Amino acid sequence: MIKVKDLKQYETDMITWRRDFHMHPEKGFDEVRTSGIVADLLESWGLEVVKNFCMTAVIGILDTKKPGKVIGIRADMDALSMQDQKDVSYRSINAGLCHSCGHDGHTSILLGIAKYLSEHQEGLTGKVKFVFQPAEEGPPPGGAKLIMQNGILDDVDIMIGSHIHPSYKTGKIIVKYDEMLASGDFFDVIITGKGGHGAYPHECNDVISTALLVITALNNIISREIDTVKPGVLSVCNIQAGEAKANNVIPQSISFGGTFRTLDEGVREHIIDKIDKILKNICSMNNCTYEFNNQFMFPILRNSNEVVEIVKNVAIDTIGSDNVEVMENVDMGCEDFAYYSTKIPSCYFYFGVRNEAKNCTATFHHPDFNMDEDSMIIVQAVIINTLLKLIE
Ligand SMILES: [Zn+2]
Ligand SMILES: [Zn+2]
Repeated sequence: MIKVKDLKQYETDMITWRRDFHMHPEKGFDEVRTSGIVADLLESWGLEVVKNFCMTAVIGILDTKKPGKVIGIRADMDALSMQDQKDVSYRSINAGLCHSCGHDGHTSILLGIAKYLSEHQEGLTGKVKFVFQPAEEGPPPGGAKLIMQNGILDDVDIMIGSHIHPSYKTGKIIVKYDEMLASGDFFDVIITGKGGHGAYPHECNDVISTALLVITALNNIISREIDTVKPGVLSVCNIQAGEAKANNVIPQSISFGGTFRTLDEGVREHIIDKIDKILKNICSMNNCTYEFNNQFMFPILRNSNEVVEIVKNVAIDTIGSDNVEVMENVDMGCEDFAYYSTKIPSCYFYFGVRNEAKNCTATFHHPDFNMDEDSMIIVQAVIINTLLKLIE
């Protein structure tokens, strides 16, 4: 078992990589620069590298040539389409793109793990696959689904993944037994009617008031239709209609989109059916037509309790029981790591990156988000020790 302080020599590298990725964020499936740097580093440490597959995915393979387990460790590489507002020397130089979900940190930590293990192969058995995946944030189908369909991870026995969590202080590791994150669907709606003059709505089909009725009804699905003991959430998150300042024009169409999350396939199907029924009836009442497209994005992320137990105990041995928490409730967010967890016994966990003294307090996907880099060697140590335990 290694101690966090034993990894101090890897910290400078990880911070340098992280700040470089942070300055040069790339969106999903466009991670050409990032994946190129990752592949070059892995090759320079003598690892077998699989690249130019599944768009921008890169997998480093450490093959000990000794019989044993195959362990996969995953990091995501993509950034978000939003402006970086932080005042730091490594602020994004790519306009409209920002690493505000910490994937630059995930990529750098996995590089740190790969570098350490390539330099300390004595005692290792089996194989380690370092999975650098594109497009966790989309676009569909996302990186994890493509990599799983490719078959390159078919021999993996156990999969490990982790994600920064800005609500927890640096130094904390947070695990969750069984179901951890919800399944996620994204839906888009277009309602069409007869446009016309705002003074003569009786000669039109008012798509705006129709959409408002629909959205009010959609917001009642979870509270009125779903068993209260079954978690679910539905949010309409965008809406577009008409031209700005065209204050006397009833538009011909309106579009809106949103997402819903559940932990139950029956609930999921009920929500889809109900959205369609609401649209059909309200649009019919108002002489409008509609298009409804629903896209299933992510399955439920379900951890293997056996693997969680190992990660939890290793984390306690590495950083002390005061720093390891067990999450009680499911998080209604979703993650494409779920595609690994449905096929491979997995543990996905959070690590704290919050530090008031360094102004690392903004939440995920916020333009001021920043992670406390002191967290990096902590999670590096926990994952390396987990791997050493798993191959015992
Ligand atoms: Zn995110
Ligand atoms: Zn993320």
